[in-house]
Amino acid sequence: MGAQQKRRWRDNHTIDNATGSQGQIRMQVNERTPWDSHDFKVKMLDWSATRGSRLAYSCRRCGRVFCRFSIANQETWAVDEQGRALETVVSKRWLSEQCPPLTNIQDDEDRKRLREPMQ
Ligand SMILES: [Zn+2]
Repeated sequence: MGAQQKRRWRDNHTIDNATGSQGQIRMQVNERTPWDSHDFKVKMLDWSATRGSRLAYSCRRCGRVFCRFSIANQETWAVDEQGRALETVVSKRWLSEQCPPLTNIQDDEDRKRLREPMQ
């Protein structure tokens, strides 16, 4: 009995010590996501009963265009000016990057890398 009580006291003591550093970590996690860094205008392209609206997000600043369906948990992918899906590696990179301040020259090359023909 006596030993059990002693251990519980020690656990509480450890938790108290950790709280201070946890508070500091929480303050640092306040960065904007790459998605939020763009200045999107949204256009509805078409609508399907199973997947909802297909939305095109085009950024006013960098000119990148992304597509996603309005129903939750659908993937987002990069498209060219005609709305054709780009390769998955290009989508992943565009989604992981902050809005480029100037039009990225490599984007023109990226837009030539189309994914497989549209379904
Ligand atoms: Zn942008």
